[in-house]
Amino acid sequence: MKLIGDYHTHTIYSHGRNTIEENVVRAIEIGLKEIAICDHGPGHLGFGIKKKKITEMRDEVDRLNDKYPDIKILLGMECNILGRDGKIDIDDFTLPHLDIVLAGYHFGSMPDKLIRDSKIHLYNYLSKKNKYYYHKVKEMNTDAFVNAIKKYDIDLITHPGAKGPIFYEEVAQIAASRNTALEINNSHGHLTVEGIKKTMKYDINYYINSDAHHISDIGKFSKSLKRAKEAGLDLSKIVNLSQE
Ligand SMILES: [Zn+2]
Ligand SMILES: [Zn+2]
Repeated sequence: MKLIGDYHTHTIYSHGRNTIEENVVRAIEIGLKEIAICDHGPGHLGFGIKKKKITEMRDEVDRLNDKYPDIKILLGMECNILGRDGKIDIDDFTLPHLDIVLAGYHFGSMPDKLIRDSKIHLYNYLSKKNKYYYHKVKEMNTDAFVNAIKKYDIDLITHPGAKGPIFYEEVAQIAASRNTALEINNSHGHLTVEGIKKTMKYDINYYINSDAHHISDIGKFSKSLKRAKEAGLDLSKIVNLSQE
């Protein structure tokens, strides 16, 4: 079994350690056919892509696609789901530059509306020790994912449930209806075995991705595969996994 493509890798444009070209060269070395460069959206405090850099990234990806014809390089972005209404940090200028749109929830994202959206970060923080906040924020997080999937054409939701609890079934139901895939992330433990079991009742496509921040992690997938197998997932539902 092997990975055909890795659709979630970071570079120096957010807080990855390597350049786009170094990621690409590594991907070729390990036999990948496709790689996506998906740095954090501009709403990520500290790590986010500087918006004006997106044209530079696009040019670099186009140049490298010419230079390395044996691999297909996609430019994407790991957008931030900013709050309960599902808004993500993408705009009409950035979107046409991208080949693939990923979205996930991160603590470091800048609230779209300060008071309203800070609450979700605070409650996720408090939920680790307090059941009241856990139940409250589980609903808030679920709404945030469901609304984001409804509002935007998102190809892939990254590490669902990693930064705060969600109702997996509700997210999976809307994802299936919108043809949005879910990620079994090799760096974060999400989807968990439980998450895979709950989501696989729906007609979901999955991706296994490394979420590499360093070239040494690109294409790694053993932890994700282990969880998928443990959950009893039909492995043909993982779109970037070759069963040969
Ligand atoms: Zn992430
Ligand atoms: Zn990431």
